[in-house]
Amino acid sequence: MHQAQVKIKSRGRIIAVESFADPYTLENSYLARTGPGRALVIDPNPSQLLLRRLAEIGAGQVTVALTHAHADHICGIAPLMERCSIRIICSRSCAPRLMAPSKTGLEFLLAMLRMQDMRDGGHRGDGFMREYRPCRARAMITFDNGLSLNDGSHALRFIPAPGHSPGSCVIVLDGACAFTGDSLFRDCAAVTRFPRGSTSSYRAIAVPALKSLPPCMQAFPGHGAPFLMRDGVFSS
Ligand SMILES: [Zn+2]
Repeated sequence: MHQAQVKIKSRGRIIAVESFADPYTLENSYLARTGPGRALVIDPNPSQLLLRRLAEIGAGQVTVALTHAHADHICGIAPLMERCSIRIICSRSCAPRLMAPSKTGLEFLLAMLRMQDMRDGGHRGDGFMREYRPCRARAMITFDNGLSLNDGSHALRFIPAPGHSPGSCVIVLDGACAFTGDSLFRDCAAVTRFPRGSTSSYRAIAVPALKSLPPCMQAFPGHGAPFLMRDGVFSS
């Protein structure tokens, strides 16, 4: 698991966003401190470094915000639940998938990893399954048409962006940065061929939602390095 930190400025204060990338899927989990003993985690993978960091900063209360409920973005929820008091926020469409590991796109994800392994002799599929923890958790807060709420002294906004999955969303923190999940990357188009993905929803709803954000806003994608919104690939 690789760790990196980006500092962003918002309303005169600095927010440090730390990322923890899974070595097999390259899925990014993000962590931001939101107050004494509190933290925000976006899309938890089973990173030991993430768990260690949460212990270091004494974060006993963790808000888990999900961009969507694919297996690689939620398989760190189980180990988090064992260590912290968590509240999960996600779209209403994603919520039932947190209780049903067979509906989190695991088979499709594994097929993609094994195809890459066949091409270059890697061991992503086996590696991911070694670390994989099925998620069985209840979402505390859900939404249909977007949501704005405060987490400690920080503002979170959830903007629906269906296409990669029906419940995909973009999460904006303090109006300063956007966690784009698998809906926007810098180096490649979003994938809409997962089961229940929809290219037409992506084009009709996700792309306008993504384009409504400021071009200079910092984007933190579900996989790969951070970028500015204007540099994203807005196609599928
Ligand atoms: Zn995904």
